[in-house]
Amino acid sequence: MMMQTPLTMTQMIRRAEKFFPKKEVVSRTGSGIQRFTYKTIAERTKRLAESLQKLGIKRGDKVGTLAWNHHRHLEAYFAIPCSGAVLHTINIRLSPQHIIYIINHAEDQALLIDPDIFPLIEKVKDQLTTVKAFIVMCAEGEMPETTIESVYNYERLLQEASGNYEYPDDLDENAPAGMCYTSATTGNPKGVVYSHRGIVLHSMALGMADSAAVSEKDIALPVVPMFHVNAWGLPFAAVWFGTSLVLPGPYFTPKLIAELIEAEKVTITAGVPTIWLGLLKELDENNYDMSSLRSVLCGGSAAPRGMIKAFEEKHGIPFMHAYGMTETSPLVVISSLKSYQEELSSEEKLNIKAMQGILVPGLEMKVVGKDGEASWDGKEMGELAIRGPWIASGYYRDERSDEAFRDGWLYTGDVVTVDEEGFMKIVDRTKDLIKSGGEWISSVDLENALMAHEAIFEAAVVSVPHEEWQERPIACVVLKEGYKGTVTKEELYTFLQPQFAKWWLPDDILFMEEIPKTSVGKFLKMRLRDQVRTMSSELK
Ligand code: ADP
Repeated sequence: MMMQTPLTMTQMIRRAEKFFPKKEVVSRTGSGIQRFTYKTIAERTKRLAESLQKLGIKRGDKVGTLAWNHHRHLEAYFAIPCSGAVLHTINIRLSPQHIIYIINHAEDQALLIDPDIFPLIEKVKDQLTTVKAFIVMCAEGEMPETTIESVYNYERLLQEASGNYEYPDDLDENAPAGMCYTSATTGNPKGVVYSHRGIVLHSMALGMADSAAVSEKDIALPVVPMFHVNAWGLPFAAVWFGTSLVLPGPYFTPKLIAELIEAEKVTITAGVPTIWLGLLKELDENNYDMSSLRSVLCGGSAAPRGMIKAFEEKHGIPFMHAYGMTETSPLVVISSLKSYQEELSSEEKLNIKAMQGILVPGLEMKVVGKDGEASWDGKEMGELAIRGPWIASGYYRDERSDEAFRDGWLYTGDVVTVDEEGFMKIVDRTKDLIKSGGEWISSVDLENALMAHEAIFEAAVVSVPHEEWQERPIACVVLKEGYKGTVTKEELYTFLQPQFAKWWLPDDILFMEEIPKTSVGKFLKMRLRDQVRTMSSELK
């Protein structure tokens, strides 16, 4: 028999403190770039935990954060769960209504807020029903003026702490450690609660050699916000493994990201495709030394093949595609070539890398088609269902749970195919699939094909209703700067024709200045669909 030691997050921060006190966290805030050792971060984290306790935060209480990626947010990432409370990261780009809903629904007792976000919270303060303390994450001299009582300065709280705090040793590994709400496109956001155990096991998965392989030797730059599924768990894994962290702070640009990678010799970075499209443009226009990068981790929506090719072949930067969702902590599948696939031609390898990848060890999956489980032939489509120790078992106090969680599985709402090698490809979200004449058209495939054209910066494909065919695809494209006015619709059709069956080709291609994006940088298909439908009915 083996020991039953609990998998709690306290061991993660303790390990950084004991084994990696000299390793560094580079943090960009509104007031510039600062450097901290893990020794300092660990001490400050305990002081924060002590301060929260003094403010009356008890075990199981939720503490919300409204913050960018920086060292204070990292301290909150550990101080809150390691003291037994629950770290509730709030997406600062959601509408004020959704932010109010989330804070009230989670019953946050305290909020840790960045100074630039504080005015928003000040405005809606009277609608927050449970918050007792507002802590502004800045230096004392940077405190915003306010009339709210119970506002505290983060640095002052840390100074006033005794420094004698120790984390409790009796936390339950199944107790809640974190929570996150999905960035709802319809209805109110849905809450997902992460357990200590789930976070520990998910961090292990991030460290596996055939997964993201995060290690002590890495310098990790999470561009993905710390309010978007815990920056995909990277800060947790990094602290545990003693990985150096570079946190890019508020309002960053592609130029800033490129400069940080070059200056800090970043080895691994993570973000959604729109971030990488922006970086690619920057790399095409200016010279940077990106040779330190061993992996650009990309997920959240499909990484276009053309973009992967440009990163790998034009700029020599290895690219890694992954898939997951808020409900799954998020890592589910990751695209790492098998040993014998390394022998394939570069085009064949690109085809594999453009798929989302294979299931990480520890999870189980099935693909549910029209008539039971779909076969793994790369063609038959079905909805992906997953289960495992870092997969949510329901939404937090939400009657919509039954739609997604059935018979012990999470039904993802993503339509996929899986090939003979077990590589999964996302065909579409169920709601974005275009149903044309009883057949399905994948908006993702059309988008990827368009984004492989040298003139196209971004492309999104949505459906419009059609009398005969039920739905038909319309493509919306944004051209790169130098190509505006030089490319015609006909040229784009000629480019698409050899790649698709005739009935897949979009009924129209619209040139746009910009494609609307969600709060986490994905194409906002719902709004685009409305825009396109209005435009096409006006044309009629
Ligand atoms: P939201 O639902 O707010 O967008 P999530 O980040 O949880 O928040 O989104 C999860 C969804 O994102 C998945 O269900 C899937 O549709 C999509 N997704 C995630 N990664 C990929 C990927 N690599 N390729 C295609 N789609 C992806």
